[in-house]
Amino acid sequence: MSQTSLLLERLGALIQQSVRENAAQHGLLPIHIQVLHYLTRANRYSDIPIAIAEYFGITRGTVSQTLALLEQKGLLSKERDPHHGKRVHFQLTPAGEMILRESWPKRIEQALSEMPADIAGLDDALRRLLLTLQRLNGQRPFGVCQQCMHFLNEDNGARCGLTQEALAAEQTVRICREWAAPEPGFV
Ligand code: SF4
Repeated sequence: MSQTSLLLERLGALIQQSVRENAAQHGLLPIHIQVLHYLTRANRYSDIPIAIAEYFGITRGTVSQTLALLEQKGLLSKERDPHHGKRVHFQLTPAGEMILRESWPKRIEQALSEMPADIAGLDDALRRLLLTLQRLNGQRPFGVCQQCMHFLNEDNGARCGLTQEALAAEQTVRICREWAAPEPGFV
């Protein structure tokens, strides 16, 4: 095993430990915290149960149970899509946002801010690795909207070339299950 593989394994284990501890503080399971965090970053095509199942590689049944419990605890609310029949979107309530205020990503952000290293270079290398592994695993990449092949920046605002719908500015920095690389070899 290469040194990089070992480092990634250790980082993965440490992050999982932080997620477990964070979840336990609130009487939750790790997947509950992870779903809350995902929903803060997902765009309106991705804040739905099927996208959550794809992102985490878990079953629709597990997603349903997770969403039901988070809703029951007052951490999530749901809203029926006015344009797409049975589709339901999920978002965090103020109580859900409160839980994430001091959660594990904050610890990582703090560690990164203390590093003298080239963070942009680190981002780039990790993104390449992630995209390669996702391709090998047959998973969707869930990239950031502004970096998508379908993203259109027009005079009257942003638009999705796939759905032809207008995109609010806050949606363009979120991740999307329909994301496609703008060019071959993009990272
Ligand atoms: S432009 Fe791409 S990433 Fe953005 S909403 Fe459309 S498909 Fe999703």
